[in-house]
Amino acid sequence: MDAVAVIGGGLAGLALAAGLDPRRFRVTVHERREELPPVETSLAMWPEAQQALDALGILPAVRAAGSRFGGMALMDGAGTPFFRTQAPGVIGVSRADLLSLLAAAVPDSVARAYGQVRTLPDAGLVVGADGVHSRVRRAVWGNRCRARLSPYVALRGVIAEPVTPGTGGEYWGRGQLFGITPASQGRTYWYASYRSDQGPDGIAVDEALAITRARFAGSSAVIGSVLAAATSAQTLAQRIWTAPPLRRYAREGAVLVGDAAHAMMPNLGRGACEALIDAVTLAELLNSRPLPDALQAYSRRRWLRSQGLRVASSAMARLALAERAQPLRDGLLRLAGWGR
Ligand SMILES: Cc1cc2nc3c(=O)[nH]c(=O)nc-3n(C[C@H](O)[C@H](O)[C@H](O)COP(=O)(O)OP(=O)(O)OC[C@H]3O[C@@H](n4cnc5c(N)ncnc54)[C@H](O)[C@@H]3O)c2cc1C
Repeated sequence: MDAVAVIGGGLAGLALAAGLDPRRFRVTVHERREELPPVETSLAMWPEAQQALDALGILPAVRAAGSRFGGMALMDGAGTPFFRTQAPGVIGVSRADLLSLLAAAVPDSVARAYGQVRTLPDAGLVVGADGVHSRVRRAVWGNRCRARLSPYVALRGVIAEPVTPGTGGEYWGRGQLFGITPASQGRTYWYASYRSDQGPDGIAVDEALAITRARFAGSSAVIGSVLAAATSAQTLAQRIWTAPPLRRYAREGAVLVGDAAHAMMPNLGRGACEALIDAVTLAELLNSRPLPDALQAYSRRRWLRSQGLRVASSAMARLALAERAQPLRDGLLRLAGWGR
């Protein structure tokens, strides 16, 4: 049996552990946290990611736990729509629910080791599923492959109130964006992003929330009421980091999945989706091919799409968070717009 050490028991690591054939692999998942994330956040699951969840046998449970997006709009900062669209295929699911469902799909034969990995374990295959600041990436690909700090902060959280009909979607102002989507149990998930020099680590949530309320004071009243209901205890504030571009995701005896391989700006809502697709693709290949062949095939299969999304999400962030170009952007969006 081949030993596989999965560093990181987040979405990518758990999905991989759930997908690997226990008759073929002796798997250990190393995770530094013993508990689920304390602040609830929501993830948009696009159809391709739902296929990956289906391959792991948990799609019905994710659908039951999540909420459908339905009608969404792209609006200016004041709430006037540029576009309205239906997103019937997209599900919003809480990260904690998704982590729990993935953990339940992991076979009992998989060993769990808690604590921060500082030195890579000895195993036939080491999988870096350890997120944007991946230790595996730095150890195997080199220190110049450290994460890159973007100039943006992201705040997100859940409030108890439901989304007011017709107000769900994304609001693009000058250098700032705000998002509102349905969350499970009829609640609202919200997020905000703008250029900031807070952090990069240990951002004080109270302060970040106060800055955010002040920044969005002149925006749509809906944003004001969501931010008024937001509490520090139920808000996560962090600077956004991305992974450097890599040419390959596998080297002899090591492979990267999820954010460790291609952490991207969150503006397309694809990072977690791609992490799940990576994991399921890698598991299928490892289950059916010799190791070197499986690693090469995985890198080839996943590289173009995930690097394409990495570039596209940065372009989307520049557009959504445009400052000087905001009037031009809004003018062009109005020209192309419908549904007003
Ligand atoms: C503001 C924001 C909004 C987002 N919204 C969406 C969205 O709507 N849809 C979407 O698809 N994606 C979204 N994403 C992206 C998504 O959060 C990530 O792509 C996803 O979490 C990546 O999963 P992962 O398992 O690769 O990494 P992570 O979720 O970062 O998991 C890595 C795990 O490894 C552990 N770990 C790290 N280092 C070590 C170590 N040395 N030893 C042991 N354990 C370690 C960590 O504790 C963690 O559990 C968003 C991201 C941000 C920042």
